[in-house]
Amino acid sequence: MFVEFHGVRGSIPMPSSSTIKYGGHTSCYEVVTNKYQFIFDAGTGFQSVKLKEDRTVVIIFTHFHHDHIQGLPFNFNLFTHKGEIILCSSLVNKGVLKNMIQTYFSGGYFPVDIVTMLTHLKFYNFNTVRNMMQPEVDIQTIELSHPGGSMGYKIQTDDGAFVYLQDNEYVPEQLEGLCDFSSGANLLIWDGMFTEAELGAKKGWGHSSIEQGLKFYEDAGLVQMAICHHAPQRSDNQLDEIGAGLTNPNIFFGYEGFKQAIVKS
Ligand SMILES: [Zn+2]
Ligand SMILES: [Zn+2]
Repeated sequence: MFVEFHGVRGSIPMPSSSTIKYGGHTSCYEVVTNKYQFIFDAGTGFQSVKLKEDRTVVIIFTHFHHDHIQGLPFNFNLFTHKGEIILCSSLVNKGVLKNMIQTYFSGGYFPVDIVTMLTHLKFYNFNTVRNMMQPEVDIQTIELSHPGGSMGYKIQTDDGAFVYLQDNEYVPEQLEGLCDFSSGANLLIWDGMFTEAELGAKKGWGHSSIEQGLKFYEDAGLVQMAICHHAPQRSDNQLDEIGAGLTNPNIFFGYEGFKQAIVKS
């Protein structure tokens, strides 16, 4: 299993000389297995994903806030890809999914209707996709705490497990469920949009803190955690300053271009 980060910024793209190191693109994470190329969320980072012709491409959405879908039609491979491209989300059924994507990328919001134009985009119910992947890939989901809803995902193969938990406003009641869900994860993505000091004024905004991530790492007994969904205004220097206090090398701030092979140990 191979993982690559294409966008780790929260809320809005931030191209700037102060965001070069961690990157300004919004959420997009690629996980490649023997048969599948999974894309978690299609924020603006999606434009740099090279869609593979020798895998089944599966785009999985956590939810439909702008920063998780906005990049979808800006990947040129989307227009030239030969096989079908599967789109799904465990948050909604295929009809709702299709309607949301079509509404967002047509009419007054986008110059062309991509759903009508690109007939190789196929909308599936999540459970259908999950069943299709068996036995090579087992994929589980968990409900997260976020305005409008959001779903967490765990992909498990013989190589190991990847867990994607954003967007989520962590509350202590989630601890047991999230620990169970994340157990055995080789790499977990945490929504660390805020610092603990910022969190007080941001209750109900749907995101967790960096410090909550550090505690969760210990509680869940994780192998490796990438803290992502960086606040738009957080500069490279600020992330480096906070990062200097992270003493465990297995906890780090996610950055665009991060690549890792997850292999059976
Ligand atoms: Zn987001
Ligand atoms: Zn969101």
